[in-house]
Amino acid sequence: MNDLALASEASFSPHPSFPFVPLHQEILVLVDGARQISWLEVGSTLRTNFAQHVVHNSQEQRGWAEKMGFPGHALMVSRDDGPWLKGIQRWADLPAHFPQTLATDMRAHLNPTRCSLIRRLSMQLVLRLRTPCPSCQGPGFGVVDRRRGLPCSGCGYPTSWILACLWRCEWCQHLEQRQRPDGIKNADPAHCDVCNP
Ligand SMILES: [Zn+2]
Ligand SMILES: [Zn+2]
Repeated sequence: MNDLALASEASFSPHPSFPFVPLHQEILVLVDGARQISWLEVGSTLRTNFAQHVVHNSQEQRGWAEKMGFPGHALMVSRDDGPWLKGIQRWADLPAHFPQTLATDMRAHLNPTRCSLIRRLSMQLVLRLRTPCPSCQGPGFGVVDRRRGLPCSGCGYPTSWILACLWRCEWCQHLEQRQRPDGIKNADPAHCDVCNP
């Protein structure tokens, strides 16, 4: 087994509150195989070109492909529900048989939009690894969970806003609950179920 491995995994699904908006969720994990330790970064964004569409002629094909960022982003194509032809990156490789189903190819090396979230998570992972544990000084002290319930500034009722973060060391399992890093102590009443039901 290699000592260190880095991997990412994405999921694309309808946003839980806005079903017509696709949500991109990504996990980045660094595994230290020799020491059996891993560090995880999780993030999500609405900025994605995850989509699928049936086109009936070359004009429609060109319009949809351009809208999806082709050829900078790769496409996949399928006819009559047959197997997907993946990784298309040149106009000349888009088939001219219609109708056809086009979809964006979401593999990271073919989709720069997906890569921007992976880049953000990579920076978070670097920051985490550069943070030593206050107890054992091992690298990688960082947030592993968030507690909701920041009080409303109007009535004090707990809201769905983040109240505090749980930090953990993967070496010695040292745990700390810390306040929000931005120092915000109260939530806007617009987000309160009591003041703004
Ligand atoms: Zn520690
Ligand atoms: Zn309130």
